[in-house]
Amino acid sequence: MKKRIIDLIKTFASDLRTTIVGLVLGGLLFGGVVYVYLQNLWIAIKEAMLSPTPLWATIALVLALGVYIYIKISKLHSSEPPNRKPKIKYIPIGEQIWKTIIKPTGKLEIERAPFCKKHDCQFIRTDKKWYCPEVDNGTCNNIFDEEGLSELKKKAESFIEQKIRHNDY
Ligand SMILES: [Zn+2]
Repeated sequence: MKKRIIDLIKTFASDLRTTIVGLVLGGLLFGGVVYVYLQNLWIAIKEAMLSPTPLWATIALVLALGVYIYIKISKLHSSEPPNRKPKIKYIPIGEQIWKTIIKPTGKLEIERAPFCKKHDCQFIRTDKKWYCPEVDNGTCNNIFDEEGLSELKKKAESFIEQKIRHNDY
């Protein structure tokens, strides 16, 4: 029984030795392969850098050009959406401020009810009159009938068109 155990231990130890030797040999072999590979890679890099026709320079130039074009295109795309959106501007003409939508096509859309410049409130409409809410308190004289407001808007449109054309708003 005792002998059997000793034999078992011997067999086990021998197996262990074989495994260790295998591992060491495998490690050396693997290390050698990696070393040769890295050495070859280094030689290839050195050759490429020292070659009379610098291929690496051409490749680098092509890559740089590609990156440059990519950046330019992505910038162009990112600046596109804001230009396509209509712009809203509040443009003062005389005693009123006009809400103006500048469409991407350049067409202007001016809201019918202006804002009182003095009180910064939009005109309200009651009983065929358009006026600043402060008129009711007797502190404002911004009041127009339908015809008066239409005339005022036509004049404002002309001035707003001129201001936008000269980028003066
Ligand atoms: Zn007012």
